[in-house]
Amino acid sequence: MIKVSLIANDYEKSKNVTKYLQNEIIRNKIVIDDENPDIVISIGGDGTLLRAFHKWKDRVDDIRFIGVHTGHLGFYTDWRDYEILELVESLRHDDNSCISYPLLEMKVVFEDKSEKTYLALNESTIRQVNKTMVTDVMICDKKLECFRGDGLSIATPTGSTGYNKSVGGAVMNPTINTLQMTEIASLNSRVYRTLGAPIIISEDDFIHLKINDDSSHILTVDQNVYTFDDISDIYYKISKKRIKFAKYRHMNFWDRVKEAFIEDETNL
Ligand code: NAP
Repeated sequence: MIKVSLIANDYEKSKNVTKYLQNEIIRNKIVIDDENPDIVISIGGDGTLLRAFHKWKDRVDDIRFIGVHTGHLGFYTDWRDYEILELVESLRHDDNSCISYPLLEMKVVFEDKSEKTYLALNESTIRQVNKTMVTDVMICDKKLECFRGDGLSIATPTGSTGYNKSVGGAVMNPTINTLQMTEIASLNSRVYRTLGAPIIISEDDFIHLKINDDSSHILTVDQNVYTFDDISDIYYKISKKRIKFAKYRHMNFWDRVKEAFIEDETNL
């Protein structure tokens, strides 16, 4: 029998849906295990699923996720709050099937050569707020450009509909194993030049930023924000780890894009 753990945001509606789902799970003799779950169910929105991912990221190889949305349909949330009974029925007949998507793995190297590693589901951004950020952008060991501007965003395919899209990045089909780097307010003049367009790297490539100044940088990893004074280099690659979702139903990605950004679902 599968073991599940529930995680919800603080909205009253999410708390009520969680209580209802919990009762149905227990009534159907499915085990709730908050220490060692096979499936983590997030109740809220895409933001709640991101938080669930970061809570369980060290066990991402062993866990499948399910997202229940208590508002509009999201990109990580396949189920709506009024479909709880159908979801519990799917849990009862779980056959271990899943769909997986790429994750961003990054290594930050500091001036003293110490390192920190992070895993992102949506994206990571690096920014400077008090002055222009200056960094060499390398694709593997080849220098592409010297970037000057507010910062850079490196997104996964599932993250491409998040912050990436707001800074002019392309929406990517999440089954493609790649990463996308998008500029945030680049400086382009006769003196300073960047490509001025998002780039999408192949799965064997990695992005290497050689930071050219020693002032303070803000690093985001999904919803987590860090401030560092002494970053020397950052390396970004597609992780060998992937996030897995229980595949009880299939929703076409482009239908989801249309519903989220173009048409209200009632017009579909
Ligand atoms: P948050 O409040 O948790 O999320 C901000 C909004 O982004 C919410 O509406 C959320 O949807 C939506 N979202 C999250 N992941 C998405 C995805 N993969 N595709 C489409 N929409 C997505 O904000 P946060 O905690 O600061 O940051 C979490 C994420 O939100 C970030 O990783 C970033 O991608 C995104 N974000 C975007 C902007 C922007 O576009 N300017 C600014 C800040 C953050 P739900 O309502 O379903 O939770």
